[in-house]
Amino acid sequence: MEAKVSSETARTKAELLAGGAVRIPRELRLPFSPSRSTAGPGAGSPEMVFSFGGARAKKAISRTSGEFDLVVEGETARILRRGDVMIREVELLPTLFHAPYQAFINVDGSCRLACAFCNAHRLGRDATKNLTDDKIVDMAVQAASEDGFAGVALTSGAAGPQDDSIGRMAELVGRIRTALPESPIGVEPYVTHPRQVDDLRSAGATEIKLNIESSDPDIFDRVCPNRDYGAILHSINHAGSAFGRNSVCSNIIFGLGETDESVLHATKMLANMGAVATLRALRVNEGNAPHLKAAVGDVPPVSADRMLSLARGQKAILAEYGLTPLAFKTMCHACMSCDIVPFWDV
Ligand code: SF4
Repeated sequence: MEAKVSSETARTKAELLAGGAVRIPRELRLPFSPSRSTAGPGAGSPEMVFSFGGARAKKAISRTSGEFDLVVEGETARILRRGDVMIREVELLPTLFHAPYQAFINVDGSCRLACAFCNAHRLGRDATKNLTDDKIVDMAVQAASEDGFAGVALTSGAAGPQDDSIGRMAELVGRIRTALPESPIGVEPYVTHPRQVDDLRSAGATEIKLNIESSDPDIFDRVCPNRDYGAILHSINHAGSAFGRNSVCSNIIFGLGETDESVLHATKMLANMGAVATLRALRVNEGNAPHLKAAVGDVPPVSADRMLSLARGQKAILAEYGLTPLAFKTMCHACMSCDIVPFWDV
């Protein structure tokens, strides 16, 4: 199947994702507020989604420094790299909450799991917004009235006892399902038992993301010392039947020292369970760098070439299993801003 964007655009996206921040001119008034994620590696930093040639890329932005420069002249915006035009026409996409056209809400930013790549647990409680359940439901309902709204997604840290986090998320899904009966609802919980998958499905979730984080269980143990690889895999396998094909996904971060073979082997293992991997290049920043170094040592930065070649390998596997990220209505496969997406970008 052909990609939806040109190979030049895909390469440009990969180079943008592999590079540093985009500097925004000090005097430029942005048409909307930047996204300030409270989950994942970019947690706490301002980011924006750039759209060009049919592709999207979410990037950290800075007013003071960056590998790339956004230049706006009249109605036209361009991105330069070291003074040369890299993208002739770029559009800034608004994010409803965190992602374009989605209300992707972090229910609880505090987390006891302390994975080395993640900055969420290193933010103060104020930064994680301390959202009440009523506020979260209001945010979802308000987002649903916006132009282009496509769905709701909930993620969460694991602050307290596991069943409490899942119980809260399931209750929220139920309330949002009542308020928005037709809306796709994605969930990204940390589960330790298949029963929790069923609870979320029964509450009305339509898609689920259960992250194995690394294709290599030994690396996983070093990077996520407080999580259980086997339990996650077991839950993904169960979710394949509870949610159905093309409704279950799982992050695999590459750049932690694993081989390409291992990434593609895990992608295939997930596909065999009906799940579509989200291959995510490791993002290193001030917050997570010392923790990653302690966990996996010095690892080379992920190149644009590696991103493209793994996405092509993933595309071949998904085609073999009749799976596609393009079927998803929520979360990263619908957002398409942080990764090279098989069947869309390559
Ligand atoms: S691809 Fe996923 S992590 Fe990236 S902005 Fe979109 S929803 Fe967030």
